[in-house]
Amino acid sequence: MKILIATPEAVPYVKTGGLADVAGALLKEYRRMKKKAYIILPLYKKIKEGQVPLRDTGVKIKIPLGDSGMEGRIFSDQFSAYFIRCDEFFDRQELYGTPQGDYIDNASRFIFFSRGIIEACKALNFKPDVIHCNDWQTGLVPLYLKTIYGADKFFKDTATLLTIHNLGYQGLFLSSELPIAGLGWELFNPEGIEFYGKVNFLKAGIVSAAILTTVSNTYAKEILNKELGFGLDGVLRKRETDLYGVINGIDYEEWDPSKDKFIPENFNIKNLKGKAVCKKQLVKEVSLDKEERPLIGIVGRLSLQKGLDLVIQSIDELLSLGVNLVILGKGNEVFHSSFSEIAKKYKGRVSVTIGFEEPLAHRIYGGSDFFLMPSRYEPCGLGQLIALRYGCIPIARRTGGPVDTIQDYESLTSKGTGFLFSDHTPSAMQDAIKRALCVYTDMNKMHKMVINAMRMDFSWKKSAERYIELYSMAIKQRAKSKGQGGLG
Ligand code: ADP
Repeated sequence: MKILIATPEAVPYVKTGGLADVAGALLKEYRRMKKKAYIILPLYKKIKEGQVPLRDTGVKIKIPLGDSGMEGRIFSDQFSAYFIRCDEFFDRQELYGTPQGDYIDNASRFIFFSRGIIEACKALNFKPDVIHCNDWQTGLVPLYLKTIYGADKFFKDTATLLTIHNLGYQGLFLSSELPIAGLGWELFNPEGIEFYGKVNFLKAGIVSAAILTTVSNTYAKEILNKELGFGLDGVLRKRETDLYGVINGIDYEEWDPSKDKFIPENFNIKNLKGKAVCKKQLVKEVSLDKEERPLIGIVGRLSLQKGLDLVIQSIDELLSLGVNLVILGKGNEVFHSSFSEIAKKYKGRVSVTIGFEEPLAHRIYGGSDFFLMPSRYEPCGLGQLIALRYGCIPIARRTGGPVDTIQDYESLTSKGTGFLFSDHTPSAMQDAIKRALCVYTDMNKMHKMVINAMRMDFSWKKSAERYIELYSMAIKQRAKSKGQGGLG
């Protein structure tokens, strides 16, 4: 089985969020399983300037964009990654936009990329059995394979699977983008890719991929309902029998407290002395006061989804409970300024770093006692998985991935790996933190909980095997549907 992972980001090449970890770690797991797996990404400026040496394959592609067209050139690395170069689109500081907003030509950029993936396969004479698409940036791929390339013999055996990492990001554009994508107006209806008068790239994938997945079982159910369906719940309900939840893993080599090069002292389940050193150094590094205070870490995108407005609203109550906070994040301008003000006001109690800093993220997971995730919704969430591995106890809202990966602590039995709360309110979050602090004050209980957390296994093995099963299903479906046109 030849697998092509089509993704707008992947570690170690480029990362803005969890999708990059997932795509990169999945590829690595497939290599370990000796699968024929490849990955394809846009060649962003950050990849060009990065550590991975690239090779120019000399292969060129030409992608029509409305009346004009754009050329791309395929690069590769020493392994099995391909990159589509088109400097006009991808030689930019960021991947999708700046804190002020998305790049205005994102539709053209990802039409080019999606069609480029298909053209690159042809130009490289590479016939994948399955293209594993990820998020809206590759949502047009399954649709192209059913329409423009529907009769192309080259792809007669190519099946598609689309993973929805976050339904909140759909790639919504003006209908005038449709001719630029080369797609006909017959697709512009509610059964096709229209979404309230706009073109929806994620919906294109949802209506046309053979198999759909999302990144946890709970989220797979949540997106079928109005509340978290972001207007696509109806379309998803129609495809419910093809929709599966596959929980993300984390790369156990990259995230390993016993080998991690970014933390000041390594530790493991049998010897937690290093964890205390990590806390001590972290407190010093980010200039917080007393080390004996419970330390709550936050690492993540600063967006409304992550629910950090609850932290902003609760700051006085949290500090009166005696905790210190260390926050690392990047995203929305409004959060940048609120958190920066809080850090100024509560020097020594709250540390805020605005930016994307991998080494500091490792040290926060390694050195904090608790990891706070008050997300409004959370498809899977990697933060809590990493936190568990580093014995940093997650405190999270009861939604999506956290429900499937964190066992809520029960004081009667002293069992559990974290603390969950249901209502998205400051008081519900504060109550969960108070429960956590009750455990913190009992050294034995806290120690037991840290051990329980670190014992959890969220490596990729099981989930990668599940994807392979689903690819086989997609391939079977493809074989059955041969000759059939249309969507769905
Ligand atoms: P998202 O919704 O952003 O994809 P996830 O929890 O799935 O959230 O994944 C976030 C990943 O990105 C984690 O590996 C986390 O450690 C990392 N991360 C998020 N923000 C930052 C940051 N500012 N600096 C370093 N790493 C970050």
